[in-house]
Amino acid sequence: MRWQGGRRGGNIDDRRGMGGVGIAGGGIGALVLAAIGYFVFGIDPQTTQQVASSLGGVGSTEAGRQGSPEDQAGAFVDVIGTNVDDVWKTKLQGYAPPTVTIYEQGTGTGCGYGQAAMGPFYCPTDRHVYLDLSFWQQMETELGASSADFAKAYVIAHEYGHHVQTLMGTNAQVQQAQQRARGQAEANQYSVALELQADCYAGVWAANAAAVSNGAVALEAGDLEAGLRTASAIGDDTLQRRQGGRVVPEGFTHGSSAQRVEWLRRGYQTGDPAACDTFSAL
Ligand SMILES: [Zn+2]
Repeated sequence: MRWQGGRRGGNIDDRRGMGGVGIAGGGIGALVLAAIGYFVFGIDPQTTQQVASSLGGVGSTEAGRQGSPEDQAGAFVDVIGTNVDDVWKTKLQGYAPPTVTIYEQGTGTGCGYGQAAMGPFYCPTDRHVYLDLSFWQQMETELGASSADFAKAYVIAHEYGHHVQTLMGTNAQVQQAQQRARGQAEANQYSVALELQADCYAGVWAANAAAVSNGAVALEAGDLEAGLRTASAIGDDTLQRRQGGRVVPEGFTHGSSAQRVEWLRRGYQTGDPAACDTFSAL
């Protein structure tokens, strides 16, 4: 993927090196956050908690590198986020960018205490995308997904998709529908539609990335395939199997591997958010 010459909007809240202030051990933060409602990338917090502990702690501070020219990881997030913003400005009237918070281990959010173990997530209350960059490593080593730049960009664009849903009122509508739902299985279906739509929106971004940046941010050969491989690796059925359990479709909250691949592809092929009506498919 080409991105080095892309515009940097600087809408980044960089909390790297601040440590995880006030963490009281493993699951508490995740429980708080889960109760309030947030939108993770597709990893069950339990899964990522296991991942985090199996990695023996997450994140490493590279002091002095933040914001410097060598801070490629920070620059990448800035360029991709800015490019996603630029696409949505052309697609959605009144679009206002989210802030991207980069943190390590744990941090306070408008949705409760966020932890790296949860994977990337979006908080609709404060309208921040939260990223712990150690997730890129986990994608490859623990989830069997690609760690190609485009695969990372897909993760970022997916979280921006939740931001778009917040601006459009989709999140709020889904929450209401979930409160009316009879049972968890039905409520989960709405989660799946929301998540697949965020995947589709990520595809919409990818389709328009080059056009809004005069080619400075652009997919290259093999990128789409890497993104689709990632989408497949984080399907609920694949994750359930990876955890050694059987596949329980009623427990899906993000969609199967096949569905995630299909909607990312659909967004990319159409480049049009109107093609992302995952709710009609319910
Ligand atoms: Zn999501």
